[in-house]
Amino acid sequence: MAKDSQFVSQIADIETNFPQWYTDVVLKTKLVDYGPVKGTMVIRPYGYAIWENIQHELDRRFKETGHENAYFPLLIPMSFMTREAEHVEGFAPEVAVVTHAGGEKLAEPLCIRPTSETIFGNMYSKWIQSYRDLPVLMNQWANVMRWEKTTRPFLRTSEFLWQEGHTAHATEEEALEETMKMLAVYEEFAKTCLSMPVITGRKTEKEKFAGAVATFGMEAMMHDGKSLQAGTSHYLGQNFAKAFDVKFLDKDGVQKYVYTASWGVSTRLIGALIMTHGDQRGLVMPPVVAPVQAVIVPIAAKKEGVLEACAHLKARLVAAGIRTVLDDSDNSPGWKFNEWEMKGVPVRIELGPRDLEAGKMTVCRRDTLIKGELALDEAEHAIAALLKEIAENMYNTAKERLESRIVEADTLDGLLAGVAGGNFVRAGWCGCRACEDKVKEFAQATARVLDAQNTASTCVACGKKAEHTVIFARAY
Ligand code: ZN
Repeated sequence: MAKDSQFVSQIADIETNFPQWYTDVVLKTKLVDYGPVKGTMVIRPYGYAIWENIQHELDRRFKETGHENAYFPLLIPMSFMTREAEHVEGFAPEVAVVTHAGGEKLAEPLCIRPTSETIFGNMYSKWIQSYRDLPVLMNQWANVMRWEKTTRPFLRTSEFLWQEGHTAHATEEEALEETMKMLAVYEEFAKTCLSMPVITGRKTEKEKFAGAVATFGMEAMMHDGKSLQAGTSHYLGQNFAKAFDVKFLDKDGVQKYVYTASWGVSTRLIGALIMTHGDQRGLVMPPVVAPVQAVIVPIAAKKEGVLEACAHLKARLVAAGIRTVLDDSDNSPGWKFNEWEMKGVPVRIELGPRDLEAGKMTVCRRDTLIKGELALDEAEHAIAALLKEIAENMYNTAKERLESRIVEADTLDGLLAGVAGGNFVRAGWCGCRACEDKVKEFAQATARVLDAQNTASTCVACGKKAEHTVIFARAY
């Protein structure tokens, strides 16, 4: 029993020390470990399985919307980065550069991709000749490197995994439509697969992607009320087309530059789902991407027939497409309950001689910790339905929290009080950079997205007429 209590107490208090809670949970549940090079992470099998499920769900959506996967090189000539002025300015401080290879100094330094707009632009200039070649709708699953000063597993690491969509279009309208379409794909994915509500909207000039005409983002609220940018979609206009000379002969016989868009989400999403749903016992996995959806714990495992019945139930659930584990280790049931609760498995099934006699199974759901009984012969349908219910309940709980923690402010003091209390703050903004900087300095909050419902009348920082209504928050 000492082992059980020790196990739980090893996680820091979620309310008073959320950063340490996060670190404890990601390490103890074996999602991730620190790599030997500072700022790098090793994604362990339990963490990588989440990424695989995220990939599977997103990849299907990308293909359904007409995109194809490709793979571009990790190394990009340094000269590419400098062709788009804003792009190089934004990324220069984070780029890792290869200067030597094969024992010799390279004629031209090569950068390790921080993102791939430049190399896609370079190749698109070769491949796109005519309006018949458009649109080009490509995505790649890859790693990227951005040298960061302060790092945290999944949230900010020098190397991370992501997908980056890069598309080229004949018209501005089509490129904008693509930008908004993929933002909507991300939002639906976050809701359905991560049970995570988000706020979407346009980013300010200060917060937009370096080289974009406009960036649209989705922001999620973490347990501590801070915001996490969970995905972005960029309308790039002709900025990269001009930098890489991507032209096509249009129907009217005129040579024109294409319009491009790019969009991405990363392994940051794993950090987002941990900090959206986790509780004092550890992870709470959204069922759709949970590596293990149901765990079977035998009770009185030595009694005749118990283990066999558990194995039989596991086989039935696996055959029904439910990711199921049978924990037949020699740890005590209490130890197993703690372990799988910490790992966030949505459904725990306990099966012992008494359950078998009654033709029932004892089921405990991770989101509410409520225990109940279900008929054993309906296990497949019952567990599938329960997983669906858990996913919906987790979404609704997170959505209620998000909605109850968006407050309004019309002064800097009000804004500061709002974000310090763990809220998003909706406030007016005149549109000038100085006021945006003032909010950052005064309240350590940034403009997350512009609110589509532009209802504010005065700027929170200077009191002049508001051009936009902004969702401000402290952010990861
Ligand atoms: Zn102002």
